[in-house]
Amino acid sequence: MLKPSEKASRVIDGINTFVRDELDPLGQREGITWGQPVARPLLRDIWKRSCELGFYNALLPENLGGAGLSIAELCAVKEAAVLTGSPLAPHILGELSGPPRIGHLFRVASDFQVDAFLKPVCRADKAVCFALTEAEAGSDATAIRTEARREGDHYVLNGAKRYISGATYADIAVLLAVTEPGRGPQGISAFFVDLTADGVQVDSDYSVMSGGGAHGNILLENVRVPVENRIGDEGAGFKLAMGRITLNRLLHCPTMLGMAGLALNLSMDHARTRKQFGQPIALFQSISHMLADMATELHAARSMMFATALSNDAGGDIKVEASMCKLYASETAFRIADRAVQIHGGSGLVAGHPVEWLFRATRMMRILTGTSEIQRNTIAKGILMPG
Ligand SMILES: Cc1cc2nc3c(=O)[nH]c(=O)nc-3n(C[C@H](O)[C@H](O)[C@H](O)COP(=O)(O)OP(=O)(O)OC[C@H]3O[C@@H](n4cnc5c(N)ncnc54)[C@H](O)[C@@H]3O)c2cc1C
Repeated sequence: MLKPSEKASRVIDGINTFVRDELDPLGQREGITWGQPVARPLLRDIWKRSCELGFYNALLPENLGGAGLSIAELCAVKEAAVLTGSPLAPHILGELSGPPRIGHLFRVASDFQVDAFLKPVCRADKAVCFALTEAEAGSDATAIRTEARREGDHYVLNGAKRYISGATYADIAVLLAVTEPGRGPQGISAFFVDLTADGVQVDSDYSVMSGGGAHGNILLENVRVPVENRIGDEGAGFKLAMGRITLNRLLHCPTMLGMAGLALNLSMDHARTRKQFGQPIALFQSISHMLADMATELHAARSMMFATALSNDAGGDIKVEASMCKLYASETAFRIADRAVQIHGGSGLVAGHPVEWLFRATRMMRILTGTSEIQRNTIAKGILMPG
């Protein structure tokens, strides 16, 4: 198994200590369970504390206050955070609210935007979400209809975003809207939108499979957004949003494989301790072979992820490989979680059990951030029409 670098190991050790000494006791005190919404003030406290300890910004480059990790190191740290087994794990690195969502925008943001939006996000004073998807624009993201019409020194935004992660507790959205209809991707611009502004409504009247509270819709009715909130040039928003799509596909893998690793660890513990017919169920070949298959598939998926990350760090082009990793990691994580439920028997079916939640959460990963079919499209195009 690839050993994390010294730098990554230091961050991982710190995260493990944070979870053991602070987040686990907090979770027990507050009754936090898998898939249940966490109250916003409590989340804010966790983000702030993680920020103080240096984890909230850890995924950023050093010049932005981060740990300056390579992509392979980022994968190791992200995977380790999930493997802590804390339901609060995504909040340690600010993945649903903070710096990982906006780090790449420092390159293009104006001084005003850095002070008004990016720095407050890095200090955990403000939470941010990313809003692209609409009812008629999912996989085909260029089909968005939310309109931003210029009126003097403002844009007036009208439209509706849906399925936006973190919208329910975000203060601002990086939101994509059409500034020049009929121009396809070149007619789309990106904006910082204050979610408390007049005309903005965030609703969350549904729960997704992994649980409620974290996802929502953003409705915009004649929302006046100052021109100074536009990110980059007019018409450059889609390119900006898609600029990191390859890397983002790869960087979702450690989360999925962390979940798969957690499912495997829980299954091994259960198989060793649960006795039936007078012996631990691990001694039944059908159970031990399931564990062997889970471990083998996890090793294959992790090897792919780290090989691709190292190739990227060495300057390689990973467009096709990143999609292969996203496809394989998400499908593998779900198969592993499914077997984990099987090994746990009835206890794995009880709502709130970690493997029951992992089964639901890994199922979502085959759809989120580019479905398996869209990954296959990218892979097929890359191998059939290289260059
Ligand atoms: C919990 C959750 C969180 C999300 N978070 C965010 C977020 O923070 N920000 C954001 O902007 N969006 C977010 N999304 C949206 C997410 O990215 C989309 O749901 C996803 O891209 C799929 O789009 P869709 O749901 O419209 O499905 P569709 O695009 O309608 O796809 C339906 C089916 O058709 C297939 N399909 C579509 N096009 C093709 C094609 N060309 N070739 C082959 N098959 C195809 C798909 O693979 C899928 O099987 C989130 C969604 C969920 C459920």
